[in-house]
Amino acid sequence: MLSYEEARAKVIAVIRERFRAAAAHEPEALEFAGQPSRALGRVLAEDVTADRPYPPFDRSTRDGFALRASDAPNPGAKLRLVGESRAGVAFDGTVGVGECVRIMTGAALPRGTDAVAMQEYAHTEGDFVVFDQPARTGQNFVPAGKEIRAGDVVVAHGAWLGYAELAMVAQVGRSRVSVFARPRIAILSTGDEVVDVAKTPGPFQIRNSNSVSLAAQVSLAGGEPVMLGNAPDEIAELRRRIERGLETDALILSGGVSVGKYDLVENVLRELGVEFFFDAIAIRPGKPAVFGWCKGKPVFGLPGNPVSTMVTFELLAAPGIEILSGSEPQPLPLFKAKLAHSIDEKPGLAHFLPARVSWPGGEPVVEALPWEGSGDIGAVVRGNCFLVVHATKLKLAAGEPVDVLPRRGIF
Ligand code: AMP
Ligand code: MG
Repeated sequence: MLSYEEARAKVIAVIRERFRAAAAHEPEALEFAGQPSRALGRVLAEDVTADRPYPPFDRSTRDGFALRASDAPNPGAKLRLVGESRAGVAFDGTVGVGECVRIMTGAALPRGTDAVAMQEYAHTEGDFVVFDQPARTGQNFVPAGKEIRAGDVVVAHGAWLGYAELAMVAQVGRSRVSVFARPRIAILSTGDEVVDVAKTPGPFQIRNSNSVSLAAQVSLAGGEPVMLGNAPDEIAELRRRIERGLETDALILSGGVSVGKYDLVENVLRELGVEFFFDAIAIRPGKPAVFGWCKGKPVFGLPGNPVSTMVTFELLAAPGIEILSGSEPQPLPLFKAKLAHSIDEKPGLAHFLPARVSWPGGEPVVEALPWEGSGDIGAVVRGNCFLVVHATKLKLAAGEPVDVLPRRGIF
């Protein structure tokens, strides 16, 4: 049985190779003037370049006085104040020897000057300014083009557009970019006991929460969920729905992958000629997770218990969707936190326990939350992360550093 790291690496390798070989996604033009959020989370299908140097002029980083540094080699220099340069309106003219100009943060250095003295270290005397400190050439401004040169690639092909990337796109004057179409990810839950959220469940039925969590997770990973509802545990109908799912870019199933009498997903996939890469991984919750390739599409069969579905999506499906969306798969964003209590887990598997991380004294501390196993959505809701207990070290003492997997969308 593969470890979760091996299974994840397998998914990444297979989808990378086959997605590159197949026609990658069509780029589409996205116009987002006035509604920048429309571009949030999209993946660039072009290199965005700088239209001009940045800063476009020598930009003061202080409120003070622009001067020639050679005019103030020692404290006490006295220069004639000849004008002002403010943000948006530059001083019109050249500053001569023995002169200075009042300048505001963000304003352009006037011609002739090569330094800005902070106003805190200067005072005016009539038409003159007296400088308490010597000036140094280059101080307190960013030279034109120091950040970016005209033509530089400022946000590259394949970049995920977050707020900083969008600010950069805006800075260079673009409100229309070429992005990859979001991959369409079919979501199909299975199980005779599962009913639509809008319906009233019978006494032994449960509502289809997996399709909802999966849709949210797909969106967070950059995909566009295609909701295929729930299929009963019945070969013919299951097959029909799976075939529909295979018309999209990838199919994610929940339920029906364990070894029970009504767990038919693997059988149906086999009938359809699937190539399986694994059909179990050494984790709890989520052990029966399946990954295969069927009719040219990646297929994930995730176990039906809601917490298993969530965890296996994050570990296995998310990086696949990131590749399909045109970006690089993100590394699992594990970080270390101090364990609040001891842990002693059953051997053989890595565990992902619903947990809560907090920063009481500035340092992260994590506690696993009480839970009733992989059906207990409430424990995940009360938490904000999963505490990872690796299969190689199942006994942990209070105070030990442990791995934490933050819940996507919260951090
Ligand atoms: P399975 O993996 O099909 O054996 O499902 C295991 C358990 O997960 C079932 O007994 C249900 O309680 C639960 N489950 C299955 N599908 C869903 C779903 N779509 N939404 C919520 N819970 C589900
Ligand atoms: Mg089932």
